[in-house]
Amino acid sequence: MSTSLRAQEFCQRALTDRDNFWSEQAKAIHWEHPIDQVCDFSRPPFSRWFVGGKTNLCYNAVDRHLPGRAAQPALHFISTEVETERTFTFQELYDEVNTFAAVLRSLGLRRGDRAVIYLPMIPEAAFAMLACVRIGVIHSVVFAGFAPAALATRIDDAEATVLITADIGLRGGKVVPLKRLADEAVALAKLSPKSVLVCNRGLDPKIPWTEGRDVDYATFRKDHEKEVVPVEWLESTESSYLLYTSGTTSKPKGVQRDTGGYAVALATSMQYLFAGEPGEVMFAAADVGWAVGHSYGVYGPLIHGMTTVFYEGLPIKPDGGIWWKIVERFHVSVMFTSPTAIRTLKRQDPALLKKYDTSSLQRLYLAGEPMDEPSWSWISEALGIPVIDNYWQTETGWPILALLPKIEPPKIKPGSPGIPMPGYDARIVDPTTGQTLPPNEKGILALGLPLPPGCMPTVWKDDQMFSEHYCGRFSEVHLYSTFDYAIQDEDGYFFILGRSDDVINVAGHRLGTREIEETICSHPQVAEAAAVGASDELKGQAIHCFVVAKQDLPDSDSQARLQKEIESVVVSNLGAFSRPAAIHIIRALPKTRSGKILRRAILAAAEGRETGDLSTLEDPVALEAIREIIQKQAGR
Ligand code: AMP
Repeated sequence: MSTSLRAQEFCQRALTDRDNFWSEQAKAIHWEHPIDQVCDFSRPPFSRWFVGGKTNLCYNAVDRHLPGRAAQPALHFISTEVETERTFTFQELYDEVNTFAAVLRSLGLRRGDRAVIYLPMIPEAAFAMLACVRIGVIHSVVFAGFAPAALATRIDDAEATVLITADIGLRGGKVVPLKRLADEAVALAKLSPKSVLVCNRGLDPKIPWTEGRDVDYATFRKDHEKEVVPVEWLESTESSYLLYTSGTTSKPKGVQRDTGGYAVALATSMQYLFAGEPGEVMFAAADVGWAVGHSYGVYGPLIHGMTTVFYEGLPIKPDGGIWWKIVERFHVSVMFTSPTAIRTLKRQDPALLKKYDTSSLQRLYLAGEPMDEPSWSWISEALGIPVIDNYWQTETGWPILALLPKIEPPKIKPGSPGIPMPGYDARIVDPTTGQTLPPNEKGILALGLPLPPGCMPTVWKDDQMFSEHYCGRFSEVHLYSTFDYAIQDEDGYFFILGRSDDVINVAGHRLGTREIEETICSHPQVAEAAAVGASDELKGQAIHCFVVAKQDLPDSDSQARLQKEIESVVVSNLGAFSRPAAIHIIRALPKTRSGKILRRAILAAAEGRETGDLSTLEDPVALEAIREIIQKQAGR
């Protein structure tokens, strides 16, 4: 296996000749006011990129393309939920975004204010995001699968004054009553937004309405049609958006994003990593509620002058050929999705892949969770194109590890997301000291500081969380911890081995065990609970819960009732994607003598594995009981 030398040299320059490298990359975007300083790292661990420069994400994604691309499609929208298809050219996108921005201004939103967006995959989600950043309003998109309680927490933390939603969303034909859920969230929130802006799709005839607070987008749109809203020129370091993600605490963290650094990072990754040409079509089959949807569903392709595709629907409805049909229909050249989606498609009729002409597709990118080799080989052979794994986090906003097809043909090592991307000083370090380990030794994947442009400059309203939780983990050095175990081989390729903390990854979506456990414990009959992420063939990991009831349950009926109730508490507080795969009612949780729940042992038992060293276990009977329950269920 030859090494990826040219790409490695390219990336290395971003570290050794940092300021020159990034000022060259910064030329890919428009600066209304030039940059004074490329990187200010005078207050470690915090860094500020392109200080003094003024720019705007919306201007770079939309306005800038009007002279040459006004008639080029900017966004193709296709929904198999409502059987609709619509294309917006860059000119039309410009008009829609200006109108949306005018509506937001009429609701009193000004630079620095926050708006929460709780929308399905409809074009208005992109209009709303772009309109916010156009006028300097910080948006926080909340995935429309989140439940009211989760939405309320995010509204409160962001102190949002406007909530943007729709009447309903649809998932495989099933109605998600978004406006009703939004109303519940507003009732739960401590700081109610002043206005709830509703994109009414006309799909809920009895949409609830609160006069004086709720605003019908269609009515306001008419009033503000054709208005032009001037771009706010933001400091490069000013915030563009917040995106909440789960961690080890029960409260989700607001990942903050700047403006200029993010724009440059996206332009760089679009050019060298995703390597699509302006004018071509990119299809990120990811919801706008997640990091991929932000970076490569909206901002990245548009900044690069590419057309983006918004798809509302499942990958297997009406059948498993729908994505390939979209590729054929819009001549998609770059596609991005998750390993879970590929595993789902692998279970479909293979003939569906051959039914459509996918010859426009140059490369497929996968991220969000480990990619298993059999599924990678299957899709690589089926499509006959490079399938490029890439590793990153909501916090970083763009890939940490990947390959650079623009620099050299990708040299893929199955099972590895590749090499560190420009500006990422990635190292495998000792989990305690932070000292760099030799090749092929397992350690924590950490990043030298400063983090490259585009990565979170801090946690929203919580500098301490950034400096202590993310950057203060090791005793001997200041490094950013990804909290993932990994190894690096002698060629410099990294292999991800899983999280080192209590974070579960279900189909690429991150969930904190604490969040789940606290939710379960809110049930009046529950004494304590442990949640673990057990390996799952389709989704990578699935949530298995072990629950101790306050009082003994006399029969299997009362157990089943409690299990059902716990399931509905989790779904109604966290959202349907957090639905546990198994809920076991047990007598006691295995704990250490100091009272710490032994999740490692519970997980091993849940996966039917050996539990390893249990010398710290207080009560071995508790673990034995769990093992018996699991064995009985599996018929082992
Ligand atoms: P999120 O911020 O929700 O995208 O989750 C980030 C986490 O997902 C990482 O810390 C990893 O644990 C996991 N992850 C993301 N991409 C990959 C990948 N390509 N291979 C393995 N794990 C990944």
